[in-house]
Amino acid sequence: MKKMVSYDGMKDRARDLIALETEYGAHNYRPLDVVVERAEGVWLWDVNGRRYLDCVSAYSALNQGHAHPRIRATLVEQSQRLSLSSRVVYNDRLPLFLEKLAAVTGYEAALPMNAGVEAVETAMKLARRWGYEVKGIPSNAAEIVVFANNFHGRTIAAISASSTAQYRNDFGPFLPGFIFVPYADIAALERAITPLTCAVMMEPIQGEGGVVVPPDGYLAAAAALCRERDVLFVADEIQTGLGRTGDLFACDRERVHPDILILGKALGGGYYPVSAVVASRALMDLFGAGDHGSTFGGNPLAAAVACTALDVIVEERLAERSRRAGDRLLAGLRAITSPHVRDVRGRGLLVGIELDRPARLLSEALLERGIIAKDTHENVLRVAPPLVIDDESLDFLVDGLGEAIRGLEARAVSG
Ligand SMILES: *Cc1c(COP(=O)(O)O)cnc(C)c1O
Repeated sequence: MKKMVSYDGMKDRARDLIALETEYGAHNYRPLDVVVERAEGVWLWDVNGRRYLDCVSAYSALNQGHAHPRIRATLVEQSQRLSLSSRVVYNDRLPLFLEKLAAVTGYEAALPMNAGVEAVETAMKLARRWGYEVKGIPSNAAEIVVFANNFHGRTIAAISASSTAQYRNDFGPFLPGFIFVPYADIAALERAITPLTCAVMMEPIQGEGGVVVPPDGYLAAAAALCRERDVLFVADEIQTGLGRTGDLFACDRERVHPDILILGKALGGGYYPVSAVVASRALMDLFGAGDHGSTFGGNPLAAAVACTALDVIVEERLAERSRRAGDRLLAGLRAITSPHVRDVRGRGLLVGIELDRPARLLSEALLERGIIAKDTHENVLRVAPPLVIDDESLDFLVDGLGEAIRGLEARAVSG
């Protein structure tokens, strides 16, 4: 039986849901005034039946698009057989996931976790342990070099490694052992490395930090410096990896093979939180039984979903498609002239538009045109649709961006 609801009734429903969330939820996000209820591919539908192009992609967790039929089928099938066992016993999905992850990434071993930040923590622990047991750093003295303006997640360890005031404010005391250097400054990195340094941990492109793309050669130079000084090079590719930037991994572009690679987001195919740390067998063997773990890490449902999520990225050539679409998007954006645009930058379908004013204004103007994109770092709008976006949707995006950016003039005047 189909229930008929008037348009105003539906609008009331959105308002009611927002009020409910505001009343009972923590206010640690400031969402746009849209309540979505359904999604497919690159499109989201709100409770009023209005369609939006999703240019957030859950911060790159939806590289394969919403509701990918193959990933959904895997989720349904696996959920009917075995969802959670525990690592007390082996399960029949995890080995296949680990094997596939090795084949796709070119690493020997993997350790699965759930949220991205847990993989970051895992990488930090692995790097510290290597520092003590292999490099011979005195007990509890290991340092990890991290970068200004980074984002590695929200746990106490991740914010201890952050320079962003808002992430840290009134959450101290912080963990010691992090050394901060400016991003994309190889001389500063060189000075920061000491005999106590176990690792350098970086994002190959800073996503949350405002789509900051380092100059060509920086990643290769940083990785070479690490090798020379006996320091692990750790790449946090939770956002940049799995096709987002036009290569399978952003480090691939400079032929950099990090000692530890951190994955998350799209590894779960938009269906399930799955993250992982991949490394050499020798490094991974620094973890013994009971040294580290997670109740949900490596569970059969996660492993099955992640397997198919990886298959889709490889078989649908999402990295290549991201590169092509990203080039088109950048070309389209660079053709829009506006005094309010300070910079357009990015790689693949990780694109940032820097304005001379809060990017939230542009975000709101896009919403009216059926495009969801969000400001990151005040003046930068991040545009990152699912990598399965077709040319027609891409044209819709470029047209919408053009109109919204040109409309900033009117908004600025009308204040
Ligand atoms: C999103 C992100 C994380 C944290 O992942 P969660 O799943 O939110 O814990 C860590 N590092 C980078 C680079 C990210 O973009």
